[in-house]
Amino acid sequence: MKTFRFLHRGRIAESSDVPEGATLLAPVTPSKIVCVGRNYAEHAKELGNEAPSEPILFLKPPSALLAPFGTIVRPPYSQRVDFEGELAVVIGREAKNVSAARWRDYVRGFACANDVTARDLQKKDVQFTRGKGFDTFCPIGPCLVDELDPADLRVTTRVNGEVRQDGRTSQMIFPIPFLVEFISQIMTLVPGDVILTGTPAGVGPMSAGETVEVEVEGIGVLRNEVA
Ligand code: ZN
Repeated sequence: MKTFRFLHRGRIAESSDVPEGATLLAPVTPSKIVCVGRNYAEHAKELGNEAPSEPILFLKPPSALLAPFGTIVRPPYSQRVDFEGELAVVIGREAKNVSAARWRDYVRGFACANDVTARDLQKKDVQFTRGKGFDTFCPIGPCLVDELDPADLRVTTRVNGEVRQDGRTSQMIFPIPFLVEFISQIMTLVPGDVILTGTPAGVGPMSAGETVEVEVEGIGVLRNEVA
């Protein structure tokens, strides 16, 4: 049996006896999911973009949330749905105008996330809302980990067991303390809100029947099927 950690009534709970046939829920219920685009230079380059001089922010709707082991549903309007393995930062305290130096006081923990993207629709639209916002386009899990220094963690994504992305959080253009300050100057973050910190190089498409896994060192493996 595997051990899972999750947020329950504001505390990190642990279960070593997830019964056979039980369904895990996403470890967080955010009021908003704030995403950072092109936060790894090699990823910006692979899509033909310059590294940004300020964080590029966009939102995913909370309705896109998907639990560990849930099924990512590719919409019929898209011919190319990509994985983006990312470190998710979960807010634990209301945060407004937080200085970078105090970032940790406002963060409850960390999880793995997949910023699923309909790449063709993202390119076609000026805004990212459609390409990033479909139901099931935001798997988060498998658990929330709080005792972790996120400054230099390995982030890998595998499709059917084959490694497609292999980066480190130390490669972020804008590190987590900077992001918490920058975002909290714009919008009040509330407990449960999630920051997706950007994806390393190697993004690519997923097909029906494939299994995609995002692993962040020290957290675990977030596994989802694709339909
Ligand atoms: Zn992303």
